Amino acid sequence: MIKNQKVIIVTGANKGIGFALVDQLLTHPLNPKVILTARNQIYGENAKKKLIEKHPSQKEKLYFHQLDITDRKSIENFSKWLEENFGTFDILVNNAGVAYQSDLAYKAPTEEIVRVTMGTNFYGTVEVTEYLLPLLAKDGKIIMVSSDNGELHHQGREVQKFLSNPNLTREQLFAKAKELEELGIQNKHRNHGYCPAFYNNSKAFLNAYVRWILVKMLKDDQTCFTLNPGWCVTDLSGHQGYKTADEGTVSTLYLIGLDLKQSKEYNGKFFDEDGNVISF
Ligand code: NAP
Repeated sequence: MIKNQKVIIVTGANKGIGFALVDQLLTHPLNPKVILTARNQIYGENAKKKLIEKHPSQKEKLYFHQLDITDRKSIENFSKWLEENFGTFDILVNNAGVAYQSDLAYKAPTEEIVRVTMGTNFYGTVEVTEYLLPLLAKDGKIIMVSSDNGELHHQGREVQKFLSNPNLTREQLFAKAKELEELGIQNKHRNHGYCPAFYNNSKAFLNAYVRWILVKMLKDDQTCFTLNPGWCVTDLSGHQGYKTADEGTVSTLYLIGLDLKQSKEYNGKFFDEDGNVISF
């Protein structure tokens, strides 16, 4: 069992913002053990190799394990390995995400776009979080790399009202997500007040989950946050944006560095790309 150092897990870390985050964590003053995860074994191993070449002296702190957040078996295997090798973990950065360019351009979604976008950015992110929760340290943190596209102003009034209800239950949120998926497949979701883009919808649902559901599921001194990394040049953004992936880690690193008192003060909040609390 490896103890005494914080253990940080980053999902979708073979490239983009997740990779940049692992890179920066390897020289972070907290001196954490960092678990780079990727759904593709080869991509993940190559990313690890690249980082070890860059930081040879940090080799012992970097781990890789396969993790596809939409595959239950993969989540189970990862969790088993995590428990056997670390016992518990301190921080989960849910960074893995997808976006289709046509969806971001508000074109009518295909069934694949609806299923994969909701399946990854909402259902998969929730599933991996809840599956790993029993291993989260008593003062552990869950950090969601969400998006400003998930802000409520992208939604119609009724959807805004639904997602901002403090008494929203997990069952209600999931039932609404299912309904949204079915509407999306028929391209009828806009008529029901949803944003045309499923990327935006998936992140809005994720934010509501953090704000009203996850925050109530946590125990002891555990906390959770959601954030916008800013518009970064990565595959997901179609290589557009005003920031590099390295610059997209500011908010996440800020939240990782919060002490217990600050973490509890900001529990369940949404952060902008500079680490400021913003409204949903
Ligand atoms: P990226 O370069 O495309 O990286 C996305 C990562 O997620 C990749 O490693 C990808 O793996 C992984 N992934 C996708 N589906 C997965 C699954 N089912 N299981 C595990 N990993 C999976 O994108 P990025 O820009 O760095 O995005 C990182 C996060 O930032 C996303 O959540 C995104 O929504 C958010 N974000 C990005 C921007 C931006 O401007 N870039 C803005 C706001 C928010 P593969 O390589 O195998 O596809």
